[in-house]
Amino acid sequence: MNLSEEQRRARLLKSRAERLPGIKKQFEESQRVQAGGGVDKFEEVQNRNFNSNFKAGGKDEKLVKKAKKPAKTPAKKNTKQVEAEKRKVNLSVSAKKGDMMHHQRMLSQDVNAQATQHIIGVPVNKSRYNGYGGEQVTNAKLKQMRPDPESVRIIPIGGVGEFGIGKNMTLVEYKGEMLVIDMGVLFAGEDYPGVNYLIPDIKYLEDNISKVKAICFTHAHLDHIGACRHLLPKFGNLVPIYGTDFTLGMIKKQMSELEDVPEMNYISVDPFKHEKIQVSEHLSVEFIHTLHSIPGNTAIVVRTPNGLIYFSGDWRHEERPMGIQTDYERIDEIVAKEGVDLMVNESTNIDSPGRHPHSEYDVGENLGKVMDHYVNGRVIISCFSSQISRIELVLKEAAARGRKVAFSGFSMINNVEVALRAKAIKVPKDTIVKMEDIIKMPDEKVCIVCTGSQGELNAVLNRMVTGAHKYIKIKSTDTIVFSSNPIPGNEPHVVNTVDGLLREGAQVIQNGKTHLTNIGPLHLSGHAYYEDHVDFVTRLHPTNYLPYHGEFYMLEHNAEMAENVIGIERSRILVADDGDIVELTPDKKIRKAGRIHAGNKLFDDADQPVHEAVVKDRIHISREGIFVIVLTLSKKNGRLMKTPDIVSRAFIYLDNSEELIGKIRHYLRQKTDKSVSTDPEMKVLKEEIKEDITHILFDATGHTPIVIPVINKV
Ligand SMILES: [Zn+2]
Ligand SMILES: [Zn+2]
Repeated sequence: MNLSEEQRRARLLKSRAERLPGIKKQFEESQRVQAGGGVDKFEEVQNRNFNSNFKAGGKDEKLVKKAKKPAKTPAKKNTKQVEAEKRKVNLSVSAKKGDMMHHQRMLSQDVNAQATQHIIGVPVNKSRYNGYGGEQVTNAKLKQMRPDPESVRIIPIGGVGEFGIGKNMTLVEYKGEMLVIDMGVLFAGEDYPGVNYLIPDIKYLEDNISKVKAICFTHAHLDHIGACRHLLPKFGNLVPIYGTDFTLGMIKKQMSELEDVPEMNYISVDPFKHEKIQVSEHLSVEFIHTLHSIPGNTAIVVRTPNGLIYFSGDWRHEERPMGIQTDYERIDEIVAKEGVDLMVNESTNIDSPGRHPHSEYDVGENLGKVMDHYVNGRVIISCFSSQISRIELVLKEAAARGRKVAFSGFSMINNVEVALRAKAIKVPKDTIVKMEDIIKMPDEKVCIVCTGSQGELNAVLNRMVTGAHKYIKIKSTDTIVFSSNPIPGNEPHVVNTVDGLLREGAQVIQNGKTHLTNIGPLHLSGHAYYEDHVDFVTRLHPTNYLPYHGEFYMLEHNAEMAENVIGIERSRILVADDGDIVELTPDKKIRKAGRIHAGNKLFDDADQPVHEAVVKDRIHISREGIFVIVLTLSKKNGRLMKTPDIVSRAFIYLDNSEELIGKIRHYLRQKTDKSVSTDPEMKVLKEEIKEDITHILFDATGHTPIVIPVINKV
C-alpha cells in the first residue's frame, strides 16, 4: 500500500491521539504510587523535578530504617564516636549510602579520565618498537637502568604520543652539553574546560639550566614556538637562540607581548649558507631549507661524536613549489658524504595514502576562479593565519582582477606584518587596504582574508555571521571560501559556522567539496603523505629511525612503514614517549635508557597558569553543579541566628525546589541545635554538614554537587 506523506502523517497523529489518554493515566498512576499515595502529594511531585521519597510516613521510610540497623554487638565507643552519635540528625533519606558512594566513585573516575588525558606518568607502551621487546617497562626496571656515559641522548620533552598534535620540544644531550629544539604549545580540547593550551613541563632542563648551550627553532608554527613566552625567559640572555628570519620574527613578536620583554640572544640563520654552527664543544647544527606551509621552514642536522642526526621538523614534498624547492641537493650531499645515523621524522600525515596530488599554485588558481565566478559580490577567504604563501597568492589573484584585499583577525594581521618585515612575502602595489576603507568600496572590488576557518566561536568569521563584527555583516551576495580542512575534533564547529553563513543566504565553498561547485582543491596540507615519506626516508637511508610529531597511532604507523616498506631493522626503530631517554651509542645503535620527568603546564586564555585540581573541579561542576550553604551561628551557644542562605549553581533551580530546600533548612536547624560545639574552627561540624547535605541532595536528585558549607559566628 502506498501512502502519501500527508496520509502517513494524519495516520500517525490519529494513533497518537488515541493512545494519549491511556499513557497519561498510566503516568499519573505511577507518580501517585511513587509519592506514597494521596492526591496532595501527587501535585507536589508534579511541581518539582526531584524524587521525593524521604517524607516521614513515605514508602521509603522503612528502607531508611533498614539501612541504619545497628551492628549486632556494638563495640565500645570512644568519646569522639559518642559525641558524633549525639550530633547525628535523622536524615530520613531513601537512597542507601552505598548507592551514593558508588555514584561518587564513578563520577570521580570519569572526571579523572577526562582531566588526565594529557598527564604523563610512565605511559602504557607495549608497542613492538617500545625498546623493551614489547614488554611494558616498570618503575623498578627504569631504576635499574644504567645510562651509557659515552652515548648521545635524544629526549622528547613533548610532541610524541600526545593527545592531539603539539607541544613539540626535543633535547639532544651529550656529556652535559644540551641542545634544545623547538618549544611548542598544544591547544587543549573541550575536555579541558577553561584551559586554552598546554606547554611542556621542563623541570629536567630547569635543574640543568647551565648546561643548555643553544636553542634552535625549526619553524614558526605555534606547535613549535608557542611556549616561548613562558619558557625562553628561563634561560637568560646568554644562551643563543637560532632560527630563520621569519621564525625569529614570529618569536620576537610573541615575546614583545610580555609585560617585561626579556633581552635574548637571537641569532638569525640563513639555511642556504649550509653553515655548521658549533653550539658546544661536541655538538654542531646545520639548518636545511625544506618545504612546509610557512616561510622560513627548516630541518636541522645535528652532528655528534656518535653520528649525524637528521631532525626533520615539519615538511611536505611538492613537485611545483612556491618559492625555492627543498634543498635536496644539500641533503643528498650529506647522505653521500656522511650518512644519516638517526632520522627523527615527523608523522602527521602518515595515515594519508599516496602523495600530495596538487600544489599551492593550484590552490591559488582556484581562489582566482572563485573571484571570476562570483564576480559581483565580496569574496571572503578564511584560512590559517600562518598560511603566508596562501595569502601571497590571494593578493596576486586579487590584484589581477582589480580587487583590494583587507585582513581581519588579530593573528592574521600580526603574521602578515612579520612576513612583510622578514621579506617572506611579495605584495602587489596598492592591493592591501585597511578594513575601515574596504567597506566603502563596491562589493565586486572587495576581498577579505580572515581567521575562523575552524569554526572558532570568537573568530572573525563567526562574528561576521552574528553581526558582532565591527565592519562586516554577511549578506546574501557574499561568497565565503574555507581554504582549509577542519582539524579533527573541530568538525561540528565548522558545520555550525557554515550553517550560519548559509542561513544568511551566502555562498559557501569548502575545500574537499569540489563536486558541489566544481571549484577545488582549495587547501594543501603542510605535511607529507605516506608515499612522500617512503620516498624521503629511502633517500636519507638512515641507520636508525625515530618517529616523532604525532599521536601514538601515527608514530606506530610511521615505525611500521620504516620496518615493512623501507626495511630498517626493528631493533633500530623506537616508538618513544615524552620523557623517554633514547641513546645513540658510540657503535651507532639506538636504545631506551630510562626516563626523565615529563609533563604539562596548563594555561588559560589570559596566559595564566591553571592547576590540574581546578580543571577537575570545573569538570565536576559542569556535571553535577555546586551547592553553597551559609550559616550564621551564635558565638555563645552555637545556635542558628537566622535562616541559612543557600546558593545553587549549575545544579538545581532553587525556585522549583522548595520542598528540598525546606528539608535542608530543617536539617540544618536540628543539626545546629545539637552542636553546642567548643570546636573554634567548626571543622567537624562543617564536615558532617557537608556529608549529610550531599546525601540529602543525592537522594532527591541522583547527583552529588560540590557542597560548600560556610559558617559565620557572630
Ligand atoms: Zn608546522
Ligand atoms: Zn608541527
